[in-house]
Amino acid sequence: MKFSTKAIHAGHEPDPSSGAIATPIHMTSTFAQDEPGVHRGYTYSRVANPTRDVLEKNLASLEEGSTGIAFGSGVAAIDALLRVLKPNDHIVLSRDIYGGTYRIVKMVWEDHGLDANFVDASDIAALRAAIRPSTRMLFLETPTNPTMRITDLEAVASVARERNIISVVDSTFATPYLQQPLRYGITAVMHSLTKYLNGHSDMIGGIVITSDQKLADQLRFLQKSTGAILSPFEAWLCERGTKTLALRMRQHCENAMMIAEWLQARPEILHIHYPGLPSHPHHELAGRQMRAFGGVVSFDLGSMATATTFLKRLCLCTLAESLGGVETLISHPATMSHASLPREQRDLLGIPDGLLRLSVGIEDAEDIIADLDQAFTGLRTVP
Ligand SMILES: *Cc1c(COP(=O)(O)O)cnc(C)c1O
Repeated sequence: MKFSTKAIHAGHEPDPSSGAIATPIHMTSTFAQDEPGVHRGYTYSRVANPTRDVLEKNLASLEEGSTGIAFGSGVAAIDALLRVLKPNDHIVLSRDIYGGTYRIVKMVWEDHGLDANFVDASDIAALRAAIRPSTRMLFLETPTNPTMRITDLEAVASVARERNIISVVDSTFATPYLQQPLRYGITAVMHSLTKYLNGHSDMIGGIVITSDQKLADQLRFLQKSTGAILSPFEAWLCERGTKTLALRMRQHCENAMMIAEWLQARPEILHIHYPGLPSHPHHELAGRQMRAFGGVVSFDLGSMATATTFLKRLCLCTLAESLGGVETLISHPATMSHASLPREQRDLLGIPDGLLRLSVGIEDAEDIIADLDQAFTGLRTVP
């Protein structure tokens, strides 16, 4: 079966008791058992829940993995992955990793003895050089936020395999529609369900998908033991979202491409980051490992003052954290997602005060462009 067919059908059948086409929301904490030790596969909803099972199977199928393990947030999924490591184990992460990943590694897990360092993972030689005898995990993101840098998945998988290290890819910005890291030999793929997979900005969740049975067993054990589970209602909302993933992603990508090309020609812009533009340093690699170039475009207006004026004038595009919903959102990384980083760190990552990140929605692109256009009127042009 191909992608959209699996998105709609994988993981569930019409409900056997009623014929309901939509997955029932099993809002129950516990399940009746037939006799001691005899039950129908479910005992308690922290351990397993039929609605959550459907989502886990559906997404495992879309990533071409054998097991999906869902959590109450993307960060809870990351936490479970980090719990697989032991004190004094070493982990190498992309330096432009999601802010919440950086925070949990530096401010939670380093206190429990995790040894971490951060490198530009798009530079495979640098990644390889960071590996030590104690390295147990590589954790990276592609595309990265907000500069949309791309890492070669096949090269990372081969480095990890060579050294017998677990490789993890946070593929939230890409979704399985645009790239499937497990196909390149990556050990596990992780998503914030909150973004494109749900796609409607109405829940928070996370998932890890893998075909490595040992890792799957460890994560399944951690899911019930630490209890950071996804609720049946949120699992249902997300499963409803994944059915239209391909349609939505096609529109996000088409709109983002149109907007990136339009933005690129504006005299007010100092710099634009979109892997679909030939000027992006990883355009060719993105073309090789992704089906299309994604829905996020970021651009630099040169200063905080100009960025603020621009943001205040926007009507349709909404200033907010998060991304991947049907509606266009715009964010200011320096004061929002990357506010906790010191300025030198932001400069190193290419996140100046004038940078804005647009999560292009699936409205009509002409309307998004018209909103951006009126916000540019009279704005200082970059010399
Ligand atoms: C949002 C996000 C997360 C964290 O997910 P939550 O659902 O907010 O906990 C992790 N990685 C990336 C790339 C994200 O965009």
